[in-house]
Amino acid sequence: MMITVVGSINMDLVVGTERFPKQGETVLGNLYTTVPGGKGANQAVAAARLGDQVHMVGAVGSDAFGTQLLSGLETEQIDTQGVKKTDGASGIANILLSEGDNRIIVVPGANHELTKSDIDAQKKAIEKSSMVILQLELPIPVVEYTLQLAKELGVPAILNPAPAGGFTEAMKQADFLTPNETEAEELFGTNWELELERYPNRMVVTLGKNGARYFDGDKHVTVEGFPTQAVDTTGAGDTFNGALAVALAEGNEFKEAVRFANAAASLSVEKFGAQGGMPNRTEVVSRME
Ligand code: ADP
Repeated sequence: MMITVVGSINMDLVVGTERFPKQGETVLGNLYTTVPGGKGANQAVAAARLGDQVHMVGAVGSDAFGTQLLSGLETEQIDTQGVKKTDGASGIANILLSEGDNRIIVVPGANHELTKSDIDAQKKAIEKSSMVILQLELPIPVVEYTLQLAKELGVPAILNPAPAGGFTEAMKQADFLTPNETEAEELFGTNWELELERYPNRMVVTLGKNGARYFDGDKHVTVEGFPTQAVDTTGAGDTFNGALAVALAEGNEFKEAVRFANAAASLSVEKFGAQGGMPNRTEVVSRME
């Protein structure tokens, strides 16, 4: 089973401070750490930990972060042959943390240098895949092009429409859509529940600790989340997407796949960092028992 992830690869620069600086002010921080992130890379790691072969398509820069990001993916047994190295800087997310609040600036860097011809070069890998996963942290025309190519090749695709601002009409053709509640509201308004009916067994809205919701053709279904002590919910959605891809690629029914994704995501919130808490298959299976 092979899954191709076409998406962003970032280094997260996490800075903690007792209080955010005011305009023009300098304050002393109390934490600095760099952790690999980017929705694409996170979802790739989630799927790889669950045992699937993952082919990553994206771009990193020629800086030191680029090298670190590539070796991080390789440590997870992810195939990085589809990751190109550009001349400039890797993508970064500057994450300021203070008093349980955060302020984030994402600079796409190399991620925004991925082109349609880079996707064409991955056609063989996509063709061999059981599932393609995409998010919206790459140039939007490249995302649309990949969805179209996957469709032509008969390979199902999951589009995680995040950040939601990049969503376009053409993307509604994705086989599966996985917004969280905020993104669902941004895409379809406060009546997003009704919109689910247009995508039976195709769109699932994640609801944080409450699990996820979809429409099965007859009725609305809520698949309850797995109660747990959350330490850091960063990456919960990414774990959900990686796990959903694995379960659907293996031919599970939609409801069972969503339950598997809920179980995996509930484990991911128990540890710090997006990738830090992503579980292996044994852990997910035992949570589901
Ligand atoms: P995002 O991380 O994109 O904001 P959500 O907050 O909806 O997405 O979380 C995605 C999934 O992660 C949920 O559907 C659920 O399965 C799981 N999850 C999130 N928060 C918790 C929590 N506190 N306890 C258990 N599961 C959680």
